[in-house]
Amino acid sequence: MARERVPVVAGWFGGEGEEFRLTGTRCRSCEAVFFPREDAFCRNPECGGRELDEVPLARRGRVWSYTDGRYRPPAPYVCDPEREWQPYTLVAVELAAERMVVLGQAAPGVGVADLAVGMEVELVPGVLNEDEEHLWMTWHWRPVTEGAL
Ligand SMILES: [Zn+2]
Repeated sequence: MARERVPVVAGWFGGEGEEFRLTGTRCRSCEAVFFPREDAFCRNPECGGRELDEVPLARRGRVWSYTDGRYRPPAPYVCDPEREWQPYTLVAVELAAERMVVLGQAAPGVGVADLAVGMEVELVPGVLNEDEEHLWMTWHWRPVTEGAL
């Protein structure tokens, strides 16, 4: 039986396959984009806008920084303290159009040796955790391997 796919954080990402995107919000007044999403008010101190629209973020960006995590990640990454801890690779990805940097784990099998600052990466669905009935879904960054668009 297929397990239910459950987002680790509701409303932060959505879509299937090629359509998988992080979901941010954009201020109607100053067009600043926020991720994690900001729904209450614009965080631009010079704006004060209170109307923000949901907007999908770019699927591709460039590596801004990266590190391997050797400690348990903070919320919203759920982490069962009873389970064996697996080190992971954390990537900060710069999205050009949105002018922001988004953190995420690298896809399984991608380590710091596979990454370089400025490398193009793309967003892919990832499984953060699983149990017998659920796949807890998150996002991963993966180096773009096919020919450049
Ligand atoms: Zn604003």
